[in-house]
Amino acid sequence: MIDFKNVTKYYKPDITAMNNVSLHVAKGEFVFVLGPSGAGKSTFLKLMLREEVADKGEVIVNGYNLSKIKQRDVPYMRRTLGVVFQDFRLIPTMTVYENIAFAMRVTNIGERDIKKRVPYILSLVGLTNKAKKFPTQLSGGEQQRVALARALVHSPELVIADEPTGNIDPELSIEIMELLQAINSVGTTVVVVTHEHELAHKYAKRIIEIKDGSVIRDTAEKAVMF
Ligand code: ADP
Repeated sequence: MIDFKNVTKYYKPDITAMNNVSLHVAKGEFVFVLGPSGAGKSTFLKLMLREEVADKGEVIVNGYNLSKIKQRDVPYMRRTLGVVFQDFRLIPTMTVYENIAFAMRVTNIGERDIKKRVPYILSLVGLTNKAKKFPTQLSGGEQQRVALARALVHSPELVIADEPTGNIDPELSIEIMELLQAINSVGTTVVVVTHEHELAHKYAKRIIEIKDGSVIRDTAEKAVMF
């Protein structure tokens, strides 16, 4: 699912954003990646999305070796994972329905399948009655659920949520965490990237803590006992 093998990433020659990191996340796990600002969380995300490439070591995501992948295969790799970005990245001129349909259309999915799947995905995240609204007509929590719905269009094996509680009210963060747990309960691997200690410790889930580009704690063994 996710394999980091002795991964080092430099920005310019003198900034080491990730220093010899090895970690493994198995299919079906729910993992928090926790770390303060500057710890290397964004670098971790970018390496998984192949927006950055490791300088040393290997990153393997959903069976793709991202150190060796051909550029033309990158879009296929990205379709195996769904990302909920902190800033949601919705298209403001499109309705909720269109935002999700568009994500399917750009990957050449037929209109008939889109008509079937978009209402289903909207029902999963509880937004059926908001299909015709534009992003600006929604609350922060609703916008985030649209972002989550869009992340699910390709039935990804892995969902990554970047700072899911960063741009919404505390009460709504419970809602999004419940949705992520529901997605996990049907077999999807979930990785939540956060700087919030409180959030990571609220759930009895595995926590991989990073600091200054290194893994300083991994509760994996405890998680197995649960
Ligand atoms: P986080 O997301 O946990 O805040 P980052 O992965 O963004 O951490 O950053 C890790 C380290 O790499 C920090 O010291 C940061 O200043 C540095 N860094 C991140 N991106 C760049 C970049 N494009 N150029 C130079 N340094 C960077």
